[in-house]
Amino acid sequence: MSASTASAPVLLPSFITPAVEQELLTEAIRLRRLLHHIAEPSLSEHQTLQAILNEVQSLQTAAQTELKISFLPDKSIPGAMITLRFKPSGRHAALRCDLDGLTIQESTDSSHLPARAGFNCKTGCMHACGHDGHMAIALTLLKFLARHPELMQSADAPAALSFIFQGAEEGCQGARYWVESGLLQGIEDLYCFHLGMGLPDKTCAPAADGFLATLKFDLTVHGRTAHAGRPRDGINALTCLCTLITMAQELLRPERGEIINFGTLHCEGARNIIPALASAQGELRAPAADTLKGMQERLDDLISAVAAAFPGSRIECVKCGFGLPIQADPVLAQQLGRAAAAAGLTLQPQFDFKASEDASLLIKAVQDHGGRGVYSVFGAHLAAGHHQSTFDFNEDALLGAIKTYLTLFTGAAGAAA
Ligand SMILES: [Zn+2]
Repeated sequence: MSASTASAPVLLPSFITPAVEQELLTEAIRLRRLLHHIAEPSLSEHQTLQAILNEVQSLQTAAQTELKISFLPDKSIPGAMITLRFKPSGRHAALRCDLDGLTIQESTDSSHLPARAGFNCKTGCMHACGHDGHMAIALTLLKFLARHPELMQSADAPAALSFIFQGAEEGCQGARYWVESGLLQGIEDLYCFHLGMGLPDKTCAPAADGFLATLKFDLTVHGRTAHAGRPRDGINALTCLCTLITMAQELLRPERGEIINFGTLHCEGARNIIPALASAQGELRAPAADTLKGMQERLDDLISAVAAAFPGSRIECVKCGFGLPIQADPVLAQQLGRAAAAAGLTLQPQFDFKASEDASLLIKAVQDHGGRGVYSVFGAHLAAGHHQSTFDFNEDALLGAIKTYLTLFTGAAGAAA
């Protein structure tokens, strides 16, 4: 039975003394800076994953903590699930974080803390969304709990706790590999989170909503090259692609909140040559999954129609990123809220995420096999907005999230049952 009821306030567990808080924050900042320095783009987070595994390997775990590392079947996709088992049987909970940076040249301005303190990334990639902070939170928790299995013996603590280090969140590409892997099968409660997102320091939105359904796609048009003076001999891939992009705007029903965007267009050649190849990256967004499905069908029809209007052309559409709206589990949300309040955070009951996130696919997969999921946001003062070259967050905010999850996982916020 739970030691606390839904309405009773939860106290911060007594093991989280000021000295422990200092130890946790110092470790989280060290890890955040280590990972910030080696930011890597989506699907290339090999060095990042190795740094995480190095930290885990250096753990001197107590004999009773069983630690298991699982990888995706396709080893070329970076990611790992690290599971700590504290009790022989019982609930399996998981915390997911994301590994990837963005292809942004990080600011070297002295007003930018990572540059000033010398941990800025110099490779043209940057943790400009806070995923370095997410990894630091997860890794600090993992290392602390592996060293303190005695804290996980309460009846309300899960028997097993997995830390999912998922790559390629940007562009919503990575989660589907986890869904397809079957590794989520045993997970009953899945916790996902983000730092910042416009929420101030010392606040927490236990259950964010307003996640958009999204589809990311790459278009490639194959035409036929020819001398520009002989247009009948060629098929202009660029003209075909531009026709498609222009006509795609007609797919929209703005009153239903439908969004389409093309962010890149590539074609190489010369003005007097008919190009044989052109490509573009686009995305669809909608507030609901069935609205998105309708847009997707209209896009597929349009592609067929445009290909038919350019006889001999071939249009490839690779669907590479997916996101869904999230239905947060109310029990998990309430439990997380109580833990966050115990950690000294002010709760923000309503929070509109206004973006897409592929954690939604993981949450849906867990819900589809009878489990529960929730997506939370931890506020942090930001030096600049997400995805900007001067993005940075207040590192003290790492501690609020760590204390919340420690309260939650050790069972101090009551059972999730
Ligand atoms: Zn992000």
